[in-house]
Amino acid sequence: VIRAGFTGSPLDRVEPLRHDADRVARLLHDPGARLLRLDAWEPEVDGDGRLGWTGMDALPVGALPVLLGTDDGAGRFAALVDGDRPPRGRSPGLDAALDALRPDEAETYAIARAVLGWHATHRHCANCGAPTAVVRAGWVRHCPGCGTEHFPRTDPVVIMLAEHRDRALVGRQPSWDPWRYSALAGFVEPGESVEEAVAREVMEEAGVRVGAVRYVTSQPWPFPSQLMIACIAEAADDALVVDDTEIEAAMWVTRDEVRRALSGEPDRRFTPPPAYAIAHTLLSEWAR
Ligand SMILES: [Zn+2]
Repeated sequence: VIRAGFTGSPLDRVEPLRHDADRVARLLHDPGARLLRLDAWEPEVDGDGRLGWTGMDALPVGALPVLLGTDDGAGRFAALVDGDRPPRGRSPGLDAALDALRPDEAETYAIARAVLGWHATHRHCANCGAPTAVVRAGWVRHCPGCGTEHFPRTDPVVIMLAEHRDRALVGRQPSWDPWRYSALAGFVEPGESVEEAVAREVMEEAGVRVGAVRYVTSQPWPFPSQLMIACIAEAADDALVVDDTEIEAAMWVTRDEVRRALSGEPDRRFTPPPAYAIAHTLLSEWAR
């Protein structure tokens, strides 16, 4: 089993329970209920990599409780504060918290971050423009104007290593730290399969034609709402034509170079993405 970051939350999502307002209210008022501690959308992390929780009495006045799930039957909630919008990009503080969080706890944070972020940016009906109301324990927004139900969105992203004769293709974006290289990635477009998206992105970004694509693993990435689908693709040849509007540079790396990068050798050829990013998992799997 491949354990990517942001996976393995102990919470039971209890989807059927969300439809029963009385049961949700009982969970909310049970003394075992807990509210996720967030500070400017960032999680509190203890020395064991676990999330911080508090009693429901800390729910701010006017905030709505979103049911993240249950843990041993007790409700776990996050506070939806009207008008509170998620920051653009990730702060150094958030990156440090993600470094410290265990993967299973990171998934619980991802549920909260993605759902709260969706509410903050989808307050009106996309069909008729009317303000919508939060229902179903925070998992649906209902439009009183036209009756449409809106659900939290998840955007599929393919992230892939093209491989050619025992070397893998990595690239870097200009905004990244110096020497940081990672797997290529891009959004799946409407009407496109995962395999087609992989082939299109590798061609667009690096000019490399790929054949067979195999799925490796996936993880949520709640900045704001992606599902990262990690794949390995067989490249037809190794000639690169880098599109510098998408990436700054690309290069082929050997398994040994990937291993040295992942283990942080001082003379490594590149700096890999952090352990919680699925690109790190993908590079590890490929190197293995
Ligand atoms: Zn509407």
